[in-house]
Amino acid sequence: MAAYELIHHEYDVVVVGAGGAGLRATVGLAEAGFKTANITKVFPTRSHTVAAQGGISAALANMGEDDWRWHMYDTIKGSDWLGDQDAVQYMCREAIPAVVELEHWGVPFSRTEEGKIYQRPFGGMTTHYGEGTAQRTCAAADRTGHAMLHAMYQQSLKCRAQFYVEFFALDLIMDDDGVCRGVIAWDLANGTLHRFRAHRVILATGGYGRAYFSATSAHTCTGDGNGMVLRAGLPMQDMEFVQFHPTGIYGAGCLITEGARGEGGYLTNSEGERFMERYAPSRKDLASRDVVSRSMTIEIREGRGVGPNKDHIFLHLEHLGPEVLHERLPGITETASIFSGVDATKAPIPVLPTVHYNMGGIPTLYTGEVVTSADGDEDKVVPGLMAAGEAACVSVHGANRLGSNSLLDLVVFGRSVALRCAETMKPNQAHKPISSTCEERILDRFDRLRNASGSRTTADVRAEMQKVMQDHAAVFRTGESLDEGMKKLNKTAASFNDIAVSDRSLIWNSDLVETLELDNLLGCALTTMASAQNRKESRGAHAREDFPDRDDDHWMKHSLCWRTGDTETKIDYRSVHMYTIDDEIDVIAPQKRVY
Ligand code: FAD
Repeated sequence: MAAYELIHHEYDVVVVGAGGAGLRATVGLAEAGFKTANITKVFPTRSHTVAAQGGISAALANMGEDDWRWHMYDTIKGSDWLGDQDAVQYMCREAIPAVVELEHWGVPFSRTEEGKIYQRPFGGMTTHYGEGTAQRTCAAADRTGHAMLHAMYQQSLKCRAQFYVEFFALDLIMDDDGVCRGVIAWDLANGTLHRFRAHRVILATGGYGRAYFSATSAHTCTGDGNGMVLRAGLPMQDMEFVQFHPTGIYGAGCLITEGARGEGGYLTNSEGERFMERYAPSRKDLASRDVVSRSMTIEIREGRGVGPNKDHIFLHLEHLGPEVLHERLPGITETASIFSGVDATKAPIPVLPTVHYNMGGIPTLYTGEVVTSADGDEDKVVPGLMAAGEAACVSVHGANRLGSNSLLDLVVFGRSVALRCAETMKPNQAHKPISSTCEERILDRFDRLRNASGSRTTADVRAEMQKVMQDHAAVFRTGESLDEGMKKLNKTAASFNDIAVSDRSLIWNSDLVETLELDNLLGCALTTMASAQNRKESRGAHAREDFPDRDDDHWMKHSLCWRTGDTETKIDYRSVHMYTIDDEIDVIAPQKRVY
């Protein structure tokens, strides 16, 4: 066993991650009287949620009629009928109190003239089950995530949660009986290693956008929780569904929020045509993201892209006028100027579909409990382990997430995790002894990577993986391109065994951090490619040119994918929950998805 001394801690609950999901869970747990630790690799208010611009959805009806049942319908339609309907019902119903709670916690929402929370239209959000346009997205200008993180961090400090900042969680302590009993983490600042024992571990580690070359997500979005779950021998769910946001800035990848189109922005091709009118005659530029991204890709492929290489599209905001831009989209104007050199009040912004969100992740129930099951079997809860936020696949977003439903997912399911803990455990219970072998495995892996002395740099292997993902698991896929992608990815994943870490230090060793993150990203990339190869239909963000139609008879099921070796994966399935949580609400039967 590698010789590292562990510093021991005991908590009722440990939350890994201090983004929107982790902080909301932390507040709820600490308020319920649990001794709660939050472990985070970056300072809480620097978590990726800080970048969320457009807003958080809730049918408050502040700007016109609305109903949470219409929100539920939109979310299920947006998910292309892969969302679990009990979870979607729960989220849309709980959205209203969740946003009011944020307001009471001090989130400085933009206001209407009457002083109510301002709400803007977003893609796929309708009234009367698809008839009208809903103004449902509650916004704090274009800095909603920033405002939410600050408010929730203050609340967690108020209820005395204990934070371990710039601690990198290495792996879950999964005991021989399959129960999760804690986590091992590395203090990046002083090089010490820590064992956190807990009755529940909540993974809220965010998405894995950085498996791709061009992503709107932060460099910290490396799917660490997903990697830990895969190493624990548990599956990922629905990893083939990767959302491309229509409006990443060309070249830089930074996001221009969908709120920009919500405020009246529109897309044009090289002929100056508002082409979305052809693809989505009713919703146009506010069709859901998968539809807009595919339409843009087709325009570019057919030679109607803009720029010298005809390889991008224009987003127009200039007609909105400087006052609206300044008041409603100040961050966007600044981002456009810095990253594309464009004054958005005068000229269109060059944009391109860019990886933005992972619908797939750790399979959970709407209570946050992690589940595993195979086709036909009942869901089996993994004792001691829960997940929330982008790391989790609840699944409310199914095959495609609607804009502004993620910030909502964070607070609703962060809260439900805490409620479930309060229902199923009591504070201050004694901890059971744990077998030493699982800790040995974690420390041995850490030591092996720390001393890795192969011939390839982490940056090299990462760049190779990102290119393969960008080229082969893109907006459009075919069996051939996925098979080729899998071959290349296997080669890249195998070469991880030949990696070199140049720095042996335990203090601020960024080379080692990036190597640990790369291992996690490779697990995410492999399970994404394998799940995409296997799903022979088109649904939501998974668009197969060789299987262009949705096939509910064979494919209305969640993919589960295990990593069984360096390059091996195993696939199975789990049923979609076609039931709601109470008899008053009917299931929304599958329909053709048109906008
Ligand atoms: P994150 O905010 O990514 O937090 C992850 C946390 O986990 C961090 O605290 C990190 O330190 C910690 N962590 C990770 N790995 C480890 C480890 N190994 N050890 C310790 N800690 C670890 N959604 C909307 O609904 N509305 C929007 O307007 C919107 N705008 C967006 C704009 C951009 C540019 C992008 C990219 C996304 C946007 N989204 C939006 C999506 C949304 O922001 C994210 O899905 C959401 O913020 C994810 O939150 P999270 O809490 O799950 O994870």
